[in-house]
Amino acid sequence: MKEMIIEEAKRCLQCKRPQCSKGCPIGTPVKEMITLLLEGQMQEAGALLFENNPLSIICSMICPHEIFCEGHCILGRKGKAVQVSSIANYISTRYIDRFRTRYQPGKAFLHQVTWLQEPESWRRPFTSPGVPHMQLLII
Ligand code: SF4
Repeated sequence: MKEMIIEEAKRCLQCKRPQCSKGCPIGTPVKEMITLLLEGQMQEAGALLFENNPLSIICSMICPHEIFCEGHCILGRKGKAVQVSSIANYISTRYIDRFRTRYQPGKAFLHQVTWLQEPESWRRPFTSPGVPHMQLLII
């Protein structure tokens, strides 16, 4: 699976003006995501995706990619578009898995309850340093 995804990512031309992102209603940074993946920075690639869209993993499965990102990919004009959905799904899945093992659901829930019970915490940023705001989705 990983090899297939990497091979697909290598097909990306790293366009100066990525039409894939323009075609995405939420402007997914496809080019940057692929660059990070190819550099082996999976964590950063996942963080980039989820910062842009916390429902990234769901969108990678249900979006009409043939109309949005893949439908706008320059390679699709004369051949096969980069399979952005597969790449995004691969990165999102691994990103979620990593945090599922790192943060036990019970602990994440407890953390959230504690946070809600502390009035002064409302003034703090939603996430603690190093804790992604995906935490709610993991619960
Ligand atoms: S349009 Fe296609 S080839 Fe260009 S950056 Fe986006 S995915 Fe890569």
